[in-house]
Amino acid sequence: MPSPMVDDAKEIKEENPFESMMSRFDRAAQLLDLDPDLYAVMRVPNRELKVYIPVRMDSGRMQVFEGFRVQHNFARGPAKGGIRYAPDVTLDEVRALAAWMTWKCAVVNVPFGGAKGGIICDPQQMSQGELERLTRRYAAELIDIIGPEKDVPAPDMNTNEQTMAWIMDTYSMHARHTVTAIVTGKPVELGGSAGRREATGRGLLFVINEAIKRFKMTPPQTRVVVQGAGNVGGTAARLLHEAGYKVIAISDIHGGIYNPNGLDIPAALDYLQRTRSFEDYPGAEQITNQELLELDCDVLAPCATENQITSHNADRIKCKVLAEGANGPTTAAADSILHEKGIFVIPDILANAGGVTVSYFEWVQDRMGYFWREDVVNERLQDVMVASFNDVCRYAERHRVDTRTAAYMLAIDRVAYDTRMRGFYA
Ligand code: NAD
Repeated sequence: MPSPMVDDAKEIKEENPFESMMSRFDRAAQLLDLDPDLYAVMRVPNRELKVYIPVRMDSGRMQVFEGFRVQHNFARGPAKGGIRYAPDVTLDEVRALAAWMTWKCAVVNVPFGGAKGGIICDPQQMSQGELERLTRRYAAELIDIIGPEKDVPAPDMNTNEQTMAWIMDTYSMHARHTVTAIVTGKPVELGGSAGRREATGRGLLFVINEAIKRFKMTPPQTRVVVQGAGNVGGTAARLLHEAGYKVIAISDIHGGIYNPNGLDIPAALDYLQRTRSFEDYPGAEQITNQELLELDCDVLAPCATENQITSHNADRIKCKVLAEGANGPTTAAADSILHEKGIFVIPDILANAGGVTVSYFEWVQDRMGYFWREDVVNERLQDVMVASFNDVCRYAERHRVDTRTAAYMLAIDRVAYDTRMRGFYA
């Protein structure tokens, strides 16, 4: 089944995340023998909004920022997805991330569609006041298309609980009453969920636990390499360390540290927080992010950003299990190389779905006005992650495909079923 968006391009750009997503979607749709009408509906986003956001900077000058919100699919419920602030945000990246949210919510079977937002800006160069004005104006521009029943934003790269609190407040000012369920990933004190901050990293731990059982390994025998030390990577590394895994390397954007005997992760994260880098961290070798990805290890968890494992380095990846904490860390062109090497992939739309799962719990709690204990949240998260991991593995075995293709097939099958039942395209 050809995808015009992909075929029209003279040559597929490996590092365009939208094209990576589309080529996996196309492969899964073909294997499912997806009805052509459903294919036509599901291969495009439902809505794309571009906004220009004027912000008075601290210097007194006005700067206009470009922002996006892509709502990919509503077949299974309100759209759901984070907001990213970065200088290199593009509409294609936001499109891909929105589609991944649709597939991810379907893989873990939560009743949401997919969306994503982004603003082209450099948050490291902006004051809190500038970020607040930018966020509030962006939220005001989206006011007609977001809402607890329409589209529920959350944090992503360079946005956090504070960003969500500003969006909630801006939305509530327009609604003339407090609407906590408009965003997830809020501070717990403002209607956030216990356990949401750690949810993506904790979800990653749960699926890694399941994956290593397939290799008859136990945590103390398992050497883990983590790329990224932010919300996902930092939390995953800490929880893996606490669970007895040997975390031998970790990095941030500037580079990483490596000790084949295992790192003291709490000390390393504390060092990173104090000095803002891993540079000169004692008792470990300094390595680049490229070297880190190619280390000999049992589990490699890329938890930073897209396009880290490509056709250029895939043949040098040495792990048994690739646990994708980030969205899109592996390009489609690298998939077959990893498959030939026999690497067991826990694909991003499953591996990092713990975040959206607890976001779903947060939305449910906000709507009930009744909040759960953290151990209840974590236990329900574990149930969802383990069940979804097993669903994907069973699907892969039944259809004799790799786990990434299985996850896409499972997700597309669920979205297609709901689309057909609703008669969206009648
Ligand atoms: P974050 O901003 O908290 O942390 C990102 C980390 O990656 C930082 O340590 C940063 O220094 C590092 N990094 C950034 N660019 C890098 C590069 N080019 N090379 C190496 N390291 C780099 O972000 P996060 O929330 O941890 O998100 C990380 C990834 O996980 C993103 O792909 C995001 O979309 C995905 N994700 C996040 C969540 C969540 O709940 N936060 C949920 C699902 C998926």
